[in-house]
Amino acid sequence: SVPAQTQSQQPRQGEARAIPAVLGADLEVPVKGGKLVGYANLDYAASAPCLEPVSAAVTAALPAYSSVHRGAGYASQLTTARYEQARHTVRAFAGARPDDAVIFTRNTTDATNLLAGVLPAGTTTVVFDSEHHASLLPWDKTVRLAPPAFPGEAVRQADEALAAISGPKLLVVTAASNVTGELWPIAALAHIAHRHGARILVDAAQLVPHRQLNLTALDLDYVVFSGHKLYAPFGAGVLIGRRDWLADGEPYLKGGGAVKSVGSDGESTEWHDDPEPRHEAGTPNVIGAIALAAACDALSATGWAPLVIEEERLIGRLRDGLATIEGVRELSLWGPDHPRVGIVSFVVDGYSAREVAEALSGEYGIGVRDGKFCAHPFVRHLLGTADGGCEDGTASAVRASIGIGTTDEHVDRLITALRDLAAR
Ligand code: PLP
Repeated sequence: SVPAQTQSQQPRQGEARAIPAVLGADLEVPVKGGKLVGYANLDYAASAPCLEPVSAAVTAALPAYSSVHRGAGYASQLTTARYEQARHTVRAFAGARPDDAVIFTRNTTDATNLLAGVLPAGTTTVVFDSEHHASLLPWDKTVRLAPPAFPGEAVRQADEALAAISGPKLLVVTAASNVTGELWPIAALAHIAHRHGARILVDAAQLVPHRQLNLTALDLDYVVFSGHKLYAPFGAGVLIGRRDWLADGEPYLKGGGAVKSVGSDGESTEWHDDPEPRHEAGTPNVIGAIALAAACDALSATGWAPLVIEEERLIGRLRDGLATIEGVRELSLWGPDHPRVGIVSFVVDGYSAREVAEALSGEYGIGVRDGKFCAHPFVRHLLGTADGGCEDGTASAVRASIGIGTTDEHVDRLITALRDLAAR
């Protein structure tokens, strides 16, 4: 059984908690002239800052750790219990089915690549060109779909593509775009996939920091996400989903922990049938898993309603502000009214994205991302630019993204700075 100190600190039903604080909220950064200003971090979609309860959970776990699943000593048992408790917490957070595999990975990219390695022979994947490269690239045999003009079109395109494929098939789709923040119709896409005997993998990297995920209710086969976008530090992500392909597939890494027994002849290696040990060879990132689980706990304990209400207020303020600036154009696939998480990408007339991002940082102490956000085909599509050089600055956009810890002042500073730039 799990030692008492590893049990998650869930509030009682009906008891909401205050939104937790993030580390680094008082960070000051130098701007032009050597002045120090408070950092306006508007780059949460890249990596979100660490929540205080996450930091506390890591600090609590550090004094006594040792190998997982291997040792009889107290520290080993405690570490194993904490690691398995983390798995349990992440499973609950994602609304996974009791028999789903929950495999800790390094990040989302690691998780999609793991799944790519266990697909039944001959599997065809169907992927929209609007995906992040982590979901676009790992597959051997892929049918690519153009970014759909409206959400219903996505369902129609998937329907047609899946109908034309025989043999095993997997539909891969993001839940929330890392470029536009727009929410995708994943329940409808899951329904269509299943009607064609296909499975669906949902890239939830940009969904889980902002909205509740319920894999069971949405009837998804696999989901992947990263701890570092979910207010935990770098290094841990997860693949959750159906066990059979994972139990049959080649182990992702080969080494200790993934095997039941190893003969001396070099041939008679017997791999674990259970997906978790089978695909987690080597000493796992226990602290990363504990941090990821602590972030899941902290968000669940806060409750989604206050988080979503505050985020919608702030992203509305940001987008309303952007709309008032002549020369600033927001990027969207499905129009300004389509629901989205706290992410907005835009271009500023007369400036490359890099020039805007550098000015925001160097003059105003604002951190944003610029480029093509590891979604080259999608950004080119949104900008209406041809294939070609990808990091040439002009065919790129600026992305501002928010989350817990973002303030009105951060948002207003960005609007003021962009208004200044656009008027120069
Ligand atoms: N998928 C989406 C939608 C993302 O935004 C990202 C990160 O930017 C990834 C996948 C890849 O995540 P990671 O870099 O943590 O593997």
